[in-house]
Amino acid sequence: METGYTIQEAYRRASSFLQERGGGESAAFEAELLMRRLLGMDRTRFFARFSEPFPQDRAGELAAWLERRASGEPLQYIVGDQEFYGRVFRVNPAVLIPRPETELLVETVLQEAEQRFSNDALSVVDVGTGSGAIAVTLALEKPTWHLTAIDLSLSALKVAQANAEAHGVREKICWLQGDLLAPLGAELSQVDILVSNPPYIPSRTVQTLEKQVRAFEPHLALDGGDDGLDPYRRMVETLARVEAGPQLVCFEIGADQGEAVAALLASICQEVLVKQDLAGLDRMVVGWRPAV
Ligand code: GLN
Repeated sequence: METGYTIQEAYRRASSFLQERGGGESAAFEAELLMRRLLGMDRTRFFARFSEPFPQDRAGELAAWLERRASGEPLQYIVGDQEFYGRVFRVNPAVLIPRPETELLVETVLQEAEQRFSNDALSVVDVGTGSGAIAVTLALEKPTWHLTAIDLSLSALKVAQANAEAHGVREKICWLQGDLLAPLGAELSQVDILVSNPPYIPSRTVQTLEKQVRAFEPHLALDGGDDGLDPYRRMVETLARVEAGPQLVCFEIGADQGEAVAALLASICQEVLVKQDLAGLDRMVVGWRPAV
């Protein structure tokens, strides 16, 4: 059984539905993307089959996806994935959707490590791994590194482990559940590199984020306490208590946190650098703390 309308007609209706519900300029693009994902078609096939009937057994699903999108749910949670560093990562509302800015954090870790260490077998910890985008990418880019991924949320760890499994590195990463650096215990002194994209939005600001973020992404991954700096402060306090431990620290930060996070790291590091994202905003702080 087929509905009495074509794929083209379904696409036209889907676009105007999203448009009417506030979809703006991206309505047509999003309608196309949702339809292609639903029908499992690449762009060429989708347009080549424009005049074929839209399969009726998919009509209910399409309507449900469009309704979710119209109510503000991010596309990535609807289709269930997001690309990061050229690879596909599964996402669900237990994890933050990986952002392009965070690809620069990965890039920074790779570059700094290249410049500063002569040893290939580095021990690297990703704190607040979420979808596992950072840890899995580093494990794939640097097969000789020993990765540990930590998250407070068990449901996030499940997503990260599924992503690691899909990319063939689940067994290569050590998985720990707990608060920031705490689950490492004495192992912290064996770590060479600490990388983290912690929650860094000030609590009162979380409520002012765009709906797509505020109403759907996990606040556990966004809310960094009163000034958004709690996770950095607590990690730096832990680092200050150990003599050995990470020599390289790479944090993602909010655009207005460069100075504050640099000051925190300066208390334990010899060298501190604030780095910008592609929009020219402060986005990363790197600390170097050579072994004594
Ligand atoms: N970059 C995210 C946002 O803009 C915040 C990520 C975080 O808090 N680590 O919503």
